[in-house]
Amino acid sequence: MNRKFHRWYDGLRFGQKILVINTITAGAAMLLLTLSIAVIYIFSQRNQMLEQTSIQSQVFGESLAASLSFNDTGSAREVLASLRNSPHVVHADVFDLQGQHFAEYKKDNSWSPELSQADFMLSVKYGQTHHFGLRGLSYVSAIKLNNKTLGYFYTRSDAMPIYRQTAVFILLVIAASLIAAAAGLLLLNRLQRVLMAPLHNLIQLMRYISEENDYSKRHILRSSDEMGELAMGFNQMLERIQDRDNALGLELKEKEITEKRLDRLAHYDVVTHLPNRHFFNRQLISSALQGTQDKPLFGLMFIDLDDFKMVNDTLGHHFGDVLLRHVAELLAKTVRSGDVVARLGGDEFGIILPGLAREEDAAALARKIISRISEPVTLDGREVVVGASIGISFFPGDADNVDTLMQYADTAMYHAKDNGKNNFQFFSNEMHVRIQSRRGVETDLRKALEQQQLYLEYQPQFDIDTRRIVGVETLLRWQHPELGRVGPNEFIPVAEENGLIVPIGEWVFRMACLQAKKWHAQGLPLTIAVNVSSRQFLEADLAQRLEHILCEVGANASWIELEITESALLDASDSTIGKLNALAGIGFGLAIDDFGTGYSSLSYLKRFPISKLKIDRSFIVGIQDNSNDKAIAHAIIAMGNSLDMQVIAEGIETEQQAQYLLDFGCRLGQGFLVSPSVAPEKVAELVMVSNSAMVSNMEQLQYA
Ligand code: C2E
Ligand code: MG
Ligand code: MG
Repeated sequence: MNRKFHRWYDGLRFGQKILVINTITAGAAMLLLTLSIAVIYIFSQRNQMLEQTSIQSQVFGESLAASLSFNDTGSAREVLASLRNSPHVVHADVFDLQGQHFAEYKKDNSWSPELSQADFMLSVKYGQTHHFGLRGLSYVSAIKLNNKTLGYFYTRSDAMPIYRQTAVFILLVIAASLIAAAAGLLLLNRLQRVLMAPLHNLIQLMRYISEENDYSKRHILRSSDEMGELAMGFNQMLERIQDRDNALGLELKEKEITEKRLDRLAHYDVVTHLPNRHFFNRQLISSALQGTQDKPLFGLMFIDLDDFKMVNDTLGHHFGDVLLRHVAELLAKTVRSGDVVARLGGDEFGIILPGLAREEDAAALARKIISRISEPVTLDGREVVVGASIGISFFPGDADNVDTLMQYADTAMYHAKDNGKNNFQFFSNEMHVRIQSRRGVETDLRKALEQQQLYLEYQPQFDIDTRRIVGVETLLRWQHPELGRVGPNEFIPVAEENGLIVPIGEWVFRMACLQAKKWHAQGLPLTIAVNVSSRQFLEADLAQRLEHILCEVGANASWIELEITESALLDASDSTIGKLNALAGIGFGLAIDDFGTGYSSLSYLKRFPISKLKIDRSFIVGIQDNSNDKAIAHAIIAMGNSLDMQVIAEGIETEQQAQYLLDFGCRLGQGFLVSPSVAPEKVAELVMVSNSAMVSNMEQLQYA
């Protein structure tokens, strides 16, 4: 029961609890009050009854004294009969001194306990005049006449009417209490609402805050009672939470900014602000997955700038960055809106071309890119010309997965490079085979030097007029154990790319020095031209290293001529001039190889310590029939002569070519007309023959 009540009580709202407690306490108080009043009432009524009975007994005693003294029972009964008017007395007896019953009065059907003789005597003896029982009052008084006791008057009064009145009174009080309680409850309910209102508001506010997380709200209550204190405490708590929330928000914002920054760093290239390779790869995967229904084809384009490394190394990294940014902007402007351009690293860019209708669309874009990139541009006050080699592969035509697709675009791009740069290529299966064999070359080339598969041949350089051999060009050869002779055009670009050309070039130089020393000892005063790759020319300590080798071998610098390709001398920067001066300072002759193919401005040639220009073979091939080639060859020869430089033409195959060159004023030549490259032993023979032929020619001239 107790537990049940507790459970019920715990389930009540706070206001209801107040009501319950109030009802219980008010009820208990009311009950206590009613009971007290009832008891007090009963007692007062009883006292009143006792007092009345005492007075009555006295009055009756006087009348009864006469009856007793005259032993007149009849008058006694008459006296007693008047008791009928008394509301309480139900029974009265008169006894004489001996205790004999003298007269009696009895109300009909009333309660009337018999008085025992013993009781009566006892009460007389001890003077006990009355006894209040539960049911009523017994009262004994002596009947006296002139202070002489004649007998006793004994009455019994019924207390029932008192009880009845009390009961009525209690009922009335209860009824009044109930009405009062009902009115009280009503009032309390109202009061309770007024009292509870701030608490309800607080609860509502708390709910709102916990749902909306809006800690800026405050409870407006300015009372100084407990509710006020609670509201104030609540507000302070909110303030603290808000402060903490703000601090947390600030922290989160900072974290978000850092995360965004990190995300940018992780996904974007710092130099060009284009997406980086990581982002590109992710985009590529999602493009491959998304392929639209109507245009399921997408293209992948790899763009590599031509000779960027050279620009970077000769004009500095800062300029390289400027150029990269320029190219990035060009690319971003040229592509369609849905295409993704990224910098994949170094001078390599990638473009994803989703939703292509035809492969030709990719080709058109590639053409546009190449033409825009190769337009001369002035950056940082310098005019530069760059080219771009582009490889394109298609999904799902060429490959069905992203990795292979990338590899194929790369392959196609390398093919574009091999194809003379500044062009684009679609991937084809044959390329794949070629790339594989190129990879094979790379691995094998590493072993070639150690396993002595490399050797040198020498191609004579001669006086075109007299055909006297004046020098040789050192040409590198590779005898591959399985592939046989591999041409330098196949393996030198590979060696340049992976840097192997540096040790290989030094080896060539050492061999050439040894050979020169040998020939000079034999009385063959030949100049030996040695090719220096542009990659080698980038080495800062090239001059020192060559000088060191020269000393080791014990050769003379004036025996050696270094052939440096025109593309290595793109600019007239201090570092280029410094390197050339260092080499010239050692005593080497310096020749510009493949002259006419680069973009070098002729004007800065004057600033270089160059002793010879070597006209590229391509101009010699067309010298007879192609007016352009003829004009260029002529111009180079004229310019070389005017700058006091020697001019040599390479790739002379016919007498006509030789004659044209001679006519233009070119004195030196190299080519199959006299000899291809040969083993060193053969060179001595050729020199003997050429010199004796020259002698006999001279003799013939003399005799003529
Ligand atoms: P290069 O320095 O321009 O060498 C001349 C090339 O033209 C040689 O080809 C030579 O055999 C070829 N040639 C000479 N006369 C004629 C001719 O009358 N007709 C034709 N059709 N060709 C002729 P090769 O030996 O295949 O060398 C190709 C290139 O490889 C060279 O061009 C040079 O750039 C590079 N190379 C060769 N040896 C070395 C080397 O030791 N070091 C470096 N760095 N590069 C080398
Ligand atoms: Mg050469
Ligand atoms: Mg050449």
